[in-house]
Amino acid sequence: MSDFQNFIQGEWVASASTRPNLNPSNPSESLGNYAQADAKDVAHAVSAAKEASHAWSRSTPQQRFDVLDFIGAEILARKQELGMLLAREEGKILPEAIGEVGRAGYIFKFFAGEALRLGGQALASVRPNMEVLTTREAVGVVGLITPWNFPIAIPAWKAAPALACGNAVVLKPSELTPACAWALAEIVSRSGLPKGAFNLVMGDGLAGKTLVEHPDVDAISFTGSSNTGKLIAQHCALHLKKFQLEMGGKNPLLILDDADLNVAVECTVNGAFFSTGQRCTASSRTIVTEQIYDRFTEAVIARMQGLKVGAAIEASTHIGPVVNDTQLAKNLDYLKIAKDEGGNILCGGERLDGSGYFFSPALIANNNPQARLNQEEVFGPVTTLVKVKNFEEGLAVANATPYGLSGGICTTSLKYATQFRREMQAGMVMVNAPTAGVDYHVPFGGSKASSFGPREQGPMAVEFYTKVKTHYLA
Ligand code: NAD
Repeated sequence: MSDFQNFIQGEWVASASTRPNLNPSNPSESLGNYAQADAKDVAHAVSAAKEASHAWSRSTPQQRFDVLDFIGAEILARKQELGMLLAREEGKILPEAIGEVGRAGYIFKFFAGEALRLGGQALASVRPNMEVLTTREAVGVVGLITPWNFPIAIPAWKAAPALACGNAVVLKPSELTPACAWALAEIVSRSGLPKGAFNLVMGDGLAGKTLVEHPDVDAISFTGSSNTGKLIAQHCALHLKKFQLEMGGKNPLLILDDADLNVAVECTVNGAFFSTGQRCTASSRTIVTEQIYDRFTEAVIARMQGLKVGAAIEASTHIGPVVNDTQLAKNLDYLKIAKDEGGNILCGGERLDGSGYFFSPALIANNNPQARLNQEEVFGPVTTLVKVKNFEEGLAVANATPYGLSGGICTTSLKYATQFRREMQAGMVMVNAPTAGVDYHVPFGGSKASSFGPREQGPMAVEFYTKVKTHYLA
């Protein structure tokens, strides 16, 4: 079996311990042993990044463009192969996995262009004979901490803008999905990027914590659970480090009586269950007005019965496995909680036979907006069904959680669609589209407890990865 090492200062570096990377469709298959960085490895990576950061911050836009364009082009050229790797390590079905790899490639291409457009402003001064300019400078050494559910797209949407803005980075991917990050590092190693400007340290939460707490790390960009995000926020606030957090969601899809039934069913099934419901933007609450409720419920159940759960790389599979045994146990626990708090399990919610962590998508009726199933993130293919009287009640229920990542509505009414877009407390709103599934060239992020700090992706990503300097010239 192969061993995969960390990438530090332009070299492959062995660590004292490794961890097998198991395929959730068949956990007896390992994709290899992946390095587990200890404090010494993390310190080595941070010092390499620090050493490289000044020179890279002085690189020309052309150098940055060439590096990022190379990385993007190679990812796109290898998207079938890398998609297969992603499907095997994370459990996303092959078309979704290939789609994610494509997204990562286009993100690098997009930020190659942004490197050329990074600029400031020239302003008239309020004082005579004075000129004012603003410029953007790199922040320095940026730690990138990523979750398992988008194992190549999230590292891409952090590393690409960070490098485009002239920062040196240390990437700490999830311990559950290091293979995609390793493959990205291998491509970066041949891209012409100076040694030390990109470092990969694979490992668990302790490696992440060590990275966050290293005094030479200037900023942390984190995506993951709210609990981890809060710990990172506490440390960064205390030490005045710049930080950005993308965390959980409890995203609602509101279905009104006047919705196109087919559109509503497809949006629900796609948003709640595709990618095994393991998307931060997944629709985990389906809020339905009373006139359409029965027809809609019947149609969703019929559609769910046609979904095949199985191995990620099999062509007939619609829903792949849950990522690991811990997440599977969490899904099953939530099904028990659902029953205990009076929810009616209308479909699915069971552990399925087979070699992998297979779980049938679950639809649970529970009209109490304060029920745990309507408040807490499950992070599995589970959605609740909440019956409401009308749009106004539906909107109030949609907004009644601490989260605010994504929210959707299915309606043919322009009036309600417009009102929903205005009043939904979320960073992303969808009309007649699933709550999950977004473009790569526009801002991504939430409000309330889902996100903290400047937006990721799109042109706004530079807000986090740069600091502004104001120049006065007399
Ligand atoms: P997690 O918080 O357990 O882990 C995320 C990353 O943080 C991993 O790399 C982990 O090793 C590291 N980590 C763990 N403890 C740490 C610590 N104390 N200090 C520093 N790093 C630490 O999350 P997860 O289970 O990998 O991912 C699932 C979560 O991610 C869900 O809550 C989901 O909603 C969220 N998510 C959010 C978005 C978004 O953009 N809002 C996108 C994808 C996933």
